[in-house]
Amino acid sequence: PVRVRFCPSPTGNPHVGLVRTALFNWAFARHHQGTLVFRIEDTDAARDSEESYDQLLDSMRWLGFDWDEGPEIGGPHAPYRQSQRMDRYKDIAAKLLEAGHAYRCYCSQDELDTRREAARAAGKPSGYDGHCRELSAQQVAEYQAQGRTPIVRFRMPDETITFTDLVRGELTFTPENVPDYGIVRANGAPLYTLVNPVDDALMEITHVLRGEDLLSSTPRQIALYKALMELGIAKRIPAFGHLPYVMGEGNKKLSKRDPQSSLNLYRERGFLPEGLLNYLSLLGWSLSADQDIFTMAEMVAAFDIADVNPNPARFDLKKCESINGDHIRLLDVKDFTERCRPWLQAPFAPWAPEAFDEVKWQAIAPHAQTRLKVLSEITDNVDFLFLPEPVFDEASWTKAMKEGSDALLRTAREKLDAADWTSPDSLKDAVLAAGEVHGLKLGKAQAPVRVAVTGRTVGLPLFESLEVLGKEKTLTRIDAALA
Ligand code: GLU
Repeated sequence: PVRVRFCPSPTGNPHVGLVRTALFNWAFARHHQGTLVFRIEDTDAARDSEESYDQLLDSMRWLGFDWDEGPEIGGPHAPYRQSQRMDRYKDIAAKLLEAGHAYRCYCSQDELDTRREAARAAGKPSGYDGHCRELSAQQVAEYQAQGRTPIVRFRMPDETITFTDLVRGELTFTPENVPDYGIVRANGAPLYTLVNPVDDALMEITHVLRGEDLLSSTPRQIALYKALMELGIAKRIPAFGHLPYVMGEGNKKLSKRDPQSSLNLYRERGFLPEGLLNYLSLLGWSLSADQDIFTMAEMVAAFDIADVNPNPARFDLKKCESINGDHIRLLDVKDFTERCRPWLQAPFAPWAPEAFDEVKWQAIAPHAQTRLKVLSEITDNVDFLFLPEPVFDEASWTKAMKEGSDALLRTAREKLDAADWTSPDSLKDAVLAAGEVHGLKLGKAQAPVRVAVTGRTVGLPLFESLEVLGKEKTLTRIDAALA
């Protein structure tokens, strides 16, 4: 049975790279009817925070992910927070030491730095040089007498490590490129290098799907798994698949600190979880060459890790928005009406709460649904309905009110006054007819009307907007524009 894991560290805000990793693991698990383990890697007390942990869980739920084992729901390998599993790591580190797979290393940081520099200058590999691999009892006693506290270092076997990456194919690492590495700090704190593979072993993970940035740790972990298997702690070495880098602006790796990568930003702007996930799935994968828009159920049905492209994927905000817009179009209109609610209220809405009119909202919502890319755009698009006067933006007025606009507006007012206000077609005919009087096509004729009534040069379909606003307010606003 397939068992995969999503194992973020609760540091900072969730970012899109993390979501992409979660998504691919989730889709892989669901496709294979496997188990998704959600594990919190919070062994770095200096960087982890409870706030970030809460945000992680909240984000995963908002995105619509479900997990089979993990925080809040438990499971056969509980607890799923590494900070609550410290005894296990200590125990296993002791076993690795005892079996000779690890050793105590007394080198100070200064000594390591000096030797690394020297190796570099001599053109030799600059990783750990094995200095403490075979210390005599006397050397150990000397170091201890000097008051040195050792770290625990894993002893890499002197052999080439080859594995078949599920995304990249066969990869080979020679020993000089994979030096012995620290697994427990001098203060006794176990490191990511130990706890991550140890938990994957204890939790019987079969497939590790994670970002390409972790590729260099894989040969070390494979060696560690072999040692754990020898000790009867691990049952297998999982298969590994390294997901491509995500590139941001200027073709640079999208970093966690990049504002564009913050998940919260997408939530605040009103991306739909299904729209965002659809887009993120395209960072390294595709359903088919001619179908960009799909549901998560379609993704799950089709997902094959072998189809993931190893080349870096470019994050394209425009495309992300456009895909989200398509998902907005796919919503049931009632659902759309409800999902917009947060942006119709404080702190987003500029109108007084009592000015909001549910009937008008229900009437305009279907027209808004045809236009939005993200839900937060709703506020500006409907404010003309709930503000006592249209917003005033100098640039829009200058752009729309040209010479002759007044004359056009006067004629339009007359024709609108005589129109049938139960039909947007009749309102359109009125503006069309006004345009004809002044030799203007519909587009040119409706621009001053739109700005006079909504304050903006672009917005929702105009005649539907006028109908919802109502005859009286529309005419009053045109009068005000003419005054
Ligand atoms: N906690 C690690 C991280 O967030 C997990 C790495 C892995 O998937 O192995 O980078």
